Amino acid sequence: MKIHNFSAGPCVLPKSVMEQAAAAVLNFDDGLSLLEISHRSKPFVDVMENARSLALELLGLEGKGYKALFLQGGASTQFLMVALNLLEKRAGYLNSGTWADKAIKEGKIYDDIYEVGSSKSANYNYIPKGYDIPEDYDYFHCTSNNTIFGTQMKSFPKTSIPTVCDMSSDIFSRQLDFSQFDLIYAGAQKNMGPAGTTLVVIKEDILGKVSRKIPSMMDYKTHISKGSMFNTPPVFAVYVSMLTMEWLKNLGGIKAIEEINEKKASLIYSEIDLNPLFKGYAAKEDRSIMNATFTLENENLKETFDAMCTEAGINGINGHRSVGGYRASMYNALSLDSVKALVEIMSELESKA
Ligand SMILES: *Cc1c(COP(=O)(O)O)cnc(C)c1O
Repeated sequence: MKIHNFSAGPCVLPKSVMEQAAAAVLNFDDGLSLLEISHRSKPFVDVMENARSLALELLGLEGKGYKALFLQGGASTQFLMVALNLLEKRAGYLNSGTWADKAIKEGKIYDDIYEVGSSKSANYNYIPKGYDIPEDYDYFHCTSNNTIFGTQMKSFPKTSIPTVCDMSSDIFSRQLDFSQFDLIYAGAQKNMGPAGTTLVVIKEDILGKVSRKIPSMMDYKTHISKGSMFNTPPVFAVYVSMLTMEWLKNLGGIKAIEEINEKKASLIYSEIDLNPLFKGYAAKEDRSIMNATFTLENENLKETFDAMCTEAGINGINGHRSVGGYRASMYNALSLDSVKALVEIMSELESKA
């Protein structure tokens, strides 16, 4: 039976990427596994360089003063690394979800954080809008896609201060002018590869402006100067991320995947809106094209619906505990057919009920 993997992360990856990754574990270079060669050997140095340049190429940021890094510690380590490297006096954060809230908490360890807007009191079912960002702050931090709540920023505020964005769950999924951001970070395991590495894309000229001492491993400059090879990088995660980026490039890049992602999203949201048994969680204008959150109007149908999903091979749609209900994560590698399969079950439930 085909499994439709709607998991929120780690999550579905392209089948061809899995096959290439499996082959490289057995034989990557001259009979040696990717996992047993030196990260300083030419074959792996090439992988790292290729991955770094593919990231900039896909985002349209080549030759614009940006550097791409593949670091460890997850997006969660970026919460504190951003503050350590950029926060001198005060920064503005948009509190649009649990991950944003965690970033704020880490920032506060170092200096003053001001929440420019928050939807916390509404359990983050919308994106705050109409806020001001003082121009004398060190930077503005936002989360482009709120994985848990299924909301997504459709536009970003114009500001003269550096903009930092956590794109963990929608990197490479839609076209944006990425040059409006000065620092982008994304844990690989949502839309790029396996868990174990975090992509950081950074405009070099925003660095070197804080007075504190920064430990080497936490300093972006260290990693930039060593080509993301200051210490042993997570070789497997970087390799598989490189394969996924190659897969995306061959597909036609972000423009091509965005069209497919839009189709998947409109398919599921129209079912949520038309089917009286279901209700969307996020405010309509802020709905994410990556994570669709919804609930059953009648909890008594839960057992039946869950059983029908299992029967149809639909996997990983349980909502996050802070929202309940369901969450269908539709990352780049999830096919339109998988969304069709889920929508079919939803409408079958309606005809049964
Ligand atoms: C998953 C996620 C994180 C946390 O990522 P880790 O790599 O587990 O630290 C942070 N931000 C967003 C938006 C996420 O979806």
